[in-house]
Amino acid sequence: MSIFTKIITGEIPSYKVAENEDFIAFLDINPNAKGHTLVVPKKEENKIFDLSVAEYTKLMAFSYKVAKALEKAVPCLRVGMSVIGLEVPHVHVHLVPTNKMADMQFTEKVQLSKEEFSALAETIAKTFNKNETLD
Ligand code: AMP
Repeated sequence: MSIFTKIITGEIPSYKVAENEDFIAFLDINPNAKGHTLVVPKKEENKIFDLSVAEYTKLMAFSYKVAKALEKAVPCLRVGMSVIGLEVPHVHVHLVPTNKMADMQFTEKVQLSKEEFSALAETIAKTFNKNETLD
């Protein structure tokens, strides 16, 4: 069972920003930048291109909505998107509020307190819930 499945089942905590029947989005615990979010299918699959086209398309549609909320909730030049998966073998899309190229290079990290993580997740979640009705 992946660490992300443990988050999905509630076995370990996360700073959740969005969820529906098929996907969950929560803050990356070792963020490149403030608001760095992971979008994860609840079905545990290792590699993104092992998803069916339908599952992949749904994942991208959900990531789009999360990115829109991030763009509004966290000041940045743009939201960058990346898929790697070398550390956690459970599909996840990285969405990073980006101001400089280094924000997408996974080398420089920012330290946030529990309170900062909680406040960020709450702000993004509120924006997501507002946006969701505006499809
Ligand atoms: P990668 O598999 O290389 O795409 O990276 C996995 C990402 O998951 C890294 O950015 C980690 O900081 C992040 N990560 C690992 N464990 C957790 C966790 N328990 N909660 C949130 N993010 C995590």
